[in-house]
Amino acid sequence: MNDVSTIAALATAPAPAGLAVIRISGPLTRKVLTNLFKSKVSLVDSPRVLVYGNVLDFQTGKVIDKALAVYMPGPASYTGEDVAEIHLHGSLILVQKFLRSIYAFGISPAEPGEFTKRAFMNGKLDLIQAEAIRDMIHATTDKALRLASEQLEGRFSQAINSIGEPLRNSLAEIEARLDFPEEDIEPDSIKKIASTLKKASKQIQKQIGSYSYGQIVKEGFRVLLCGRPNAGKSSLLNLCLGRERAIVTEIPGTTRDVIEEDAVFSGYKFVFCDSAGIATTSDLVEQKGIELAYERLKWADLVLMVVDSTETIEQSRLTWMPVLEDIRSKSSKVWLVFNKIDLAPDAVSKFAYESKSADQVFYLSAKTHDGFESLITNLIEEIQSRLADESEGNTIITNERHRSCLVKAETALERAIESLNKKEPLELCSSELRITLSALEELIGKTWTEDILGRIFSKFCIGK
Ligand code: GDP
Repeated sequence: MNDVSTIAALATAPAPAGLAVIRISGPLTRKVLTNLFKSKVSLVDSPRVLVYGNVLDFQTGKVIDKALAVYMPGPASYTGEDVAEIHLHGSLILVQKFLRSIYAFGISPAEPGEFTKRAFMNGKLDLIQAEAIRDMIHATTDKALRLASEQLEGRFSQAINSIGEPLRNSLAEIEARLDFPEEDIEPDSIKKIASTLKKASKQIQKQIGSYSYGQIVKEGFRVLLCGRPNAGKSSLLNLCLGRERAIVTEIPGTTRDVIEEDAVFSGYKFVFCDSAGIATTSDLVEQKGIELAYERLKWADLVLMVVDSTETIEQSRLTWMPVLEDIRSKSSKVWLVFNKIDLAPDAVSKFAYESKSADQVFYLSAKTHDGFESLITNLIEEIQSRLADESEGNTIITNERHRSCLVKAETALERAIESLNKKEPLELCSSELRITLSALEELIGKTWTEDILGRIFSKFCIGK
């Protein structure tokens, strides 16, 4: 334990606040508390009790704050080491002063995520749970928070373990046969192994399939606003965001950069993107924006094609109608939004025929907000219908690392099944099963490399 360093850091956001919590973990924790925290009841002799006392400055020995503190000796602590939390008043100067005093004892500033990394290294959490803590801190909707807390509870890790267990048994059975090659393998036991492998493969596929749901909940449902310059995309974007984010002008082609912003409706996160209008132009800067808009079509879960409904049918045949077909062929779903209906009350009858080619059609005014509520209601229903396949009971994956480990496991498992079906030598099946199991172990962190840990824990940043 003695060669383990002691670390300290501000655990709350670095901003003036009611309180600032300093966390310390490691073998020198007791020493710091004994020297820098003076109270009637000895803090280190009253573990897991919040104690009121004076916080001292290391250099001057003077009281710098009156605070509550708690001492949690290891191994029954968050990191598994001796841990303390000192609840200072939330002044950043005070925090700096106290941290300097702590560092004077040879304690190091904690790296981002280092407390949780130590919890993982000491077996307090598996890797999925450690990542869930990061997701919880960064969750921006109720639903994302619920997924993170389910993962922290260990539901996903349990699901992975219950997939791995029968596979491990099958591998043991196969390897026993390899050790006694003279014994014939009963076709029944091969059948049983094949059925176990198939069941596991289905479970893994289901987990992989839940990723798109997880992404929508965690990262947001991606909506691209496209259409000709001046159709009202920026006005609609601002309306969706509830604030002036994009510049609205009468000069066509003003929105030249891609704008991407989040908004939450009914607990669902949406990412709205307004890009330069898709239209032919000789303006080079705008041309670049148009290329970006086409790239964005692939990115979007849904495209809103915004149309200026003051245009005549003849104009529309030259402007947005030919582009609509192109966009439809490049995107998953396109909704037509006829904007400016305050200026074109005849829009519904005027475009009745043309609007048939879109998946859904809306008539609205970004100026008067008429029809806007119906658009948002439909967006929420669209998310809900895409998520409906995922019942409450399923575990959901939200993380690319998890997805890629599962894909690795599934690919090897498919090869193992194929090898059994083809009655190839059992060595081949056994080696593929080993790859499957090691991918599942990598997923929950039973095997890891410094590189994996570095990538995961460096993303723990509070206050950013
Ligand atoms: P963009 O180029 O597609 O982003 O279009 P903008 O949002 O910049 O809008 C172009 C012009 O149309 C601006 O002068 C807006 O004020 C105006 N505009 C946008 N939506 C409406 C609407 O629903 N009704 C009316 N009357 N004007 C609108």
